[in-house]
Amino acid sequence: ASITGQTISKTNCPYCGVGCGIEATVENNKVIAVKGNVEHPANLGRLCVKGSSLHETQGLQNRILHPRVKGKNVSWDKATSTIADHFKATIAQYGPDSVAFYLSGQLLTEDYYVANKLMKGFIGSGNVDTNSRLCMASATAAHKRAFGEDVVAGCYDDLSSAEAIFIIGANPAYAHPIVYQRMIKAREENPARKIVVIDPRRTASAKDADLHLAIKPGSDAYFYNGLLIYLAEQGKLDKDYIAKHCHGFEQALETAKSQFSDISDVAIACDIELSLLLESYQIFAETDKVVTFFSQGINQSSSGVDKANAIINCHLATGKIGREGAGAFSITGQPNAMGGREVGGLSTQLAAHLHFENSNEIDLVKRFWQAPNIATKPGLKAVDMFDEVNSGKIKAIWIMATNPVVSMPNANLVKRALEKCPMVVVSECYENTDTINYADVVLPASTWGEKQGSVTNSDRTISVHQSMIKAPGEAKNDWQIITDVAHKLGFKDAFNYQHAVDIFREHAALSGFENSHPLAEKKAEKDIYRVFDISALANISQSDYENFIPTKWPINVANPNGVQRIFTDGVFATKNQKANFIPIIAQLPKILPDKTQVVMNSGRIRDQWHTMSRTGRVAKLMTHSDEPYIAVNPDDAQRFQLADKQLAVLSNLSADYIGRVNITNEQRTGEIFVPIHWNDNFSASARVSALVNPITDELCGQPELKHSPVRIKPF
Ligand code: SF4
Repeated sequence: ASITGQTISKTNCPYCGVGCGIEATVENNKVIAVKGNVEHPANLGRLCVKGSSLHETQGLQNRILHPRVKGKNVSWDKATSTIADHFKATIAQYGPDSVAFYLSGQLLTEDYYVANKLMKGFIGSGNVDTNSRLCMASATAAHKRAFGEDVVAGCYDDLSSAEAIFIIGANPAYAHPIVYQRMIKAREENPARKIVVIDPRRTASAKDADLHLAIKPGSDAYFYNGLLIYLAEQGKLDKDYIAKHCHGFEQALETAKSQFSDISDVAIACDIELSLLLESYQIFAETDKVVTFFSQGINQSSSGVDKANAIINCHLATGKIGREGAGAFSITGQPNAMGGREVGGLSTQLAAHLHFENSNEIDLVKRFWQAPNIATKPGLKAVDMFDEVNSGKIKAIWIMATNPVVSMPNANLVKRALEKCPMVVVSECYENTDTINYADVVLPASTWGEKQGSVTNSDRTISVHQSMIKAPGEAKNDWQIITDVAHKLGFKDAFNYQHAVDIFREHAALSGFENSHPLAEKKAEKDIYRVFDISALANISQSDYENFIPTKWPINVANPNGVQRIFTDGVFATKNQKANFIPIIAQLPKILPDKTQVVMNSGRIRDQWHTMSRTGRVAKLMTHSDEPYIAVNPDDAQRFQLADKQLAVLSNLSADYIGRVNITNEQRTGEIFVPIHWNDNFSASARVSALVNPITDELCGQPELKHSPVRIKPF
């Protein structure tokens, strides 16, 4: 503490996958100011408007202060006993798959770790899924197919050193502002650098681009398959890299060719001018250092895994990967989507990048945890999970730090499902979330500034959030709440954690357990190699944890200070150590509009976060856009008799969305855009996801949130 009574803490922004470092000034149990941490590698001192307003989001307004059962305040003991008794009785009668946890990329890694351990190791079900399923599942599955493991090979510094950046399915100017500023700054310093944006909308990022290709929604894999063909035809392949480090190139190329007779077919499939297509292909082919930066426009698709692999195929084919300024870079939406994946937050994974497909991997986790009842098969993915709540097969669900009544596709089904579910537990910080209305048990959780624990951002940098102020009322950390329930379920010894660092150490130890590099000199026969290895932190002291210097994994004996880039040696995490080309048949979205419909795209706006439970409290963050809107092309406005600034209603799946018409040439004809943030607490009929068909990618279960045919008419 200083002479003024103020303290400075180094912590992180909780909003997006960039994971900016923050210096927070604390006085009288209040964060009174924030600024960017110049030492944090993600932001080097910068913050966007959301991050720099963090201290203004505090206060008791709408905070949940006490546990509640059926609407009445109760003690923690009563609340956790109610949950444990109900879960125990349900499991005894219907088996472990009759219960589920639905988690969030907002949770810290330690929270995720204990929730996953309790469900998969001790209750004995794989039914732990997360809202990261709506965000990252496609990229995760694509990484595994190509590299053998869910690994982002590059880092943010590559965005500064790339000579060309292809931004596809992302609008970082709004959704990831700090990494976007890096790209723009690098181009200012060297105007020869090119930014190519491939997006049906003329977004803020597209307006800054050297080249914008407004492709047909969903045609991304056609674009990258076409690029693969172009690279081969123009003699721009890195044949040496393909031969030494990759597998399956010929088949991937032949499959891409099977859909086109020549490149002009690609332009037709993507609905763009051939000259623009060729100009972009030429930039990729002629530039040594190229990064493809992709996000939800690729992932939130019924063929998102294939789209991501089509991108990776082109980087492998040219050796533009695993080196400075080159790679396929998947950026996460949420602050800890990657940390959640590290500990098995998705129902299809075990912890520590291990998987259900291999019985040796299940056995490894079982032995490490001394788990009495390890799950042996994947659990339900998000959309299926809520379907099974609706069908009655899942009879108890615990939802933590997320708002599925707003965010899930076909969100009115989620509402109905929770209404009839015998036990809905919701861990939350704020009262004004739609999901809380369906909770039998409400648990007050601590939030940013109050809780300590680690996160991993999109470029593998692990940072530690600090507890700087006391949580209000009886709010507790999520890991503590889960641990309390685990104790009441009879698992006291395995969940004997006093502090977040105890969990972190165990997580770090598991990552290194029977794990060694395939080329390591000392290697036990049973070792199962995973790149994700932070075993050098398995004995970290509390003080080092509290003053943790942000570091990129792996962090192990060979790399005690972390690793900037992975796969630089061309050794991948597959069995044969080669990267896999994946043959891709490009596909359009599963449900196309009929003549009476338009295609609804949805996404973030600049100053809001998720369902606004935090950013909606700051007046200045509402000034950029203060109500739900519908961006409509002038042709469609005429066709549907819509005037600028009037209200219009969208409908699908017996649900409506009401927003103000914004007529703009930024939209292609037949396509509209709506922001995702508003919900029924802020504006009637503004839950966009209620209009989204529950169509998912068969390979990963991620819903097609970017492409929903809807009807539109004046309100
Ligand atoms: Fe926070 Fe993301 Fe903005 Fe950084 S870019 S300050 S992490 S919202």
